[in-house]
Amino acid sequence: MGMTAYMEHKDLSNTSITDERRAEITSGVHRTLDAVQNALAKTGRPSDATTLLAATKTRDVAEILAAVDAGIRCIGENRPQEVLAKAEGLATGLANRGLDAIPFHMIGQLQANKISKILPYISTIESVDSLKLAERISRRLETQENHEIGIFLEVNESGEETKSGCSPDEAYDLAQQIAELEGLRLEGLMTIGTHVSDEKVVRTGFAHLRDLRDRLQTAGLSACRELSMGMSGDMEWAIAEGSTLVRVGTGIFGERAFI
Ligand SMILES: *Cc1c(COP(=O)(O)O)cnc(C)c1O
Repeated sequence: MGMTAYMEHKDLSNTSITDERRAEITSGVHRTLDAVQNALAKTGRPSDATTLLAATKTRDVAEILAAVDAGIRCIGENRPQEVLAKAEGLATGLANRGLDAIPFHMIGQLQANKISKILPYISTIESVDSLKLAERISRRLETQENHEIGIFLEVNESGEETKSGCSPDEAYDLAQQIAELEGLRLEGLMTIGTHVSDEKVVRTGFAHLRDLRDRLQTAGLSACRELSMGMSGDMEWAIAEGSTLVRVGTGIFGERAFI
């Protein structure tokens, strides 16, 4: 597969930024961190209960480092091609800031033939939705310097056909099977909220994911504690339902010029 079209229009490895763009991103990060704190306070959860992950698809190295300078300490990419285009620039930029080990998550669909290429750069894969994919990752790890990786099981709580993720019905058994695989640490569950404006519908999906996490913990999977749910449009509802990781792109960086 070739590059995605927008990658021909934007140099994702770019490391220079205007003062104006930096100021925009800085205020986006601060606004979003404040919104996370307000949502946590509103439901009486501790101030460190939810981490803000910056969803960085279509953003270049300089934009991502500006977000880091404003306080971001977790990054999520959707496309393997983007991980590879930015990895070197990010590593250098983070090392210059004394931050070489900030969590780097894969949050988008992962084709089998791209696994080995991204493993050296990624700390956690949130988009694992089948036993087949989990087994492939486990096998590829054998050839890597680092033989371990964090895994989230992605669950399609909305039932929308366009969304990735395993079905809620199979998630309980699948999580247990994945947790058994060599090199994979099952750290939590991930979902993309239902694409509707009805608060009750969206929150029902999030609550269902939390309930699944609780049942897995009761069954002995004590390391499976993260709930990656909530994006720019629904993060307050997700935090009210127990999210431990919100994935925000637009709210930090502004509208995307490319999909
Ligand atoms: C793009 C993306 C996000 C962030 O979406 P925004 O609406 O821009 O905040 C979160 N999660 C996933 C899986 C994404 O692809």
